[in-house]
Amino acid sequence: MSETIFHKIIRREIPATIECESETLIVIRDINPQAPFHCLIIPKKIIRSIQDIAEDDAELLLEMVQAASSLAKKYAFEKDGYRLVINCEEWGGQTVFQLHMHMLAGAQLSGGFA
Ligand code: AMP
Repeated sequence: MSETIFHKIIRREIPATIECESETLIVIRDINPQAPFHCLIIPKKIIRSIQDIAEDDAELLLEMVQAASSLAKKYAFEKDGYRLVINCEEWGGQTVFQLHMHMLAGAQLSGGFA
């Protein structure tokens, strides 16, 4: 499994704006935000993409969604809403090969997916 920039961020070898962190996840601000609020919810366990999750990662996936939900509460996005995106491999637009979920919020987002 190759090392990614996110692993270096987790180990504090390169800086990032850390929104919150737990034993299993780190949430950082995206360096190139696509919305007024753009965070990346990243499991610390090495997992290349959503295609590589195992049965015992169910709790981890739940924690990722719960992290988004608590950020929505913290920043009052619950009512207006937000978007969660997981890109998978090249055709899905994944550029960093450590599983992560984008959380975009803070404005009306465009309707397109492709
Ligand atoms: P994806 O294209 O789904 O793999 O998303 C990777 C995301 O990581 C992109 O939105 C990048 O802007 C973001 N990114 C890359 N390097 C960094 C970094 N050093 N700090 C924060 N976000 C980053």
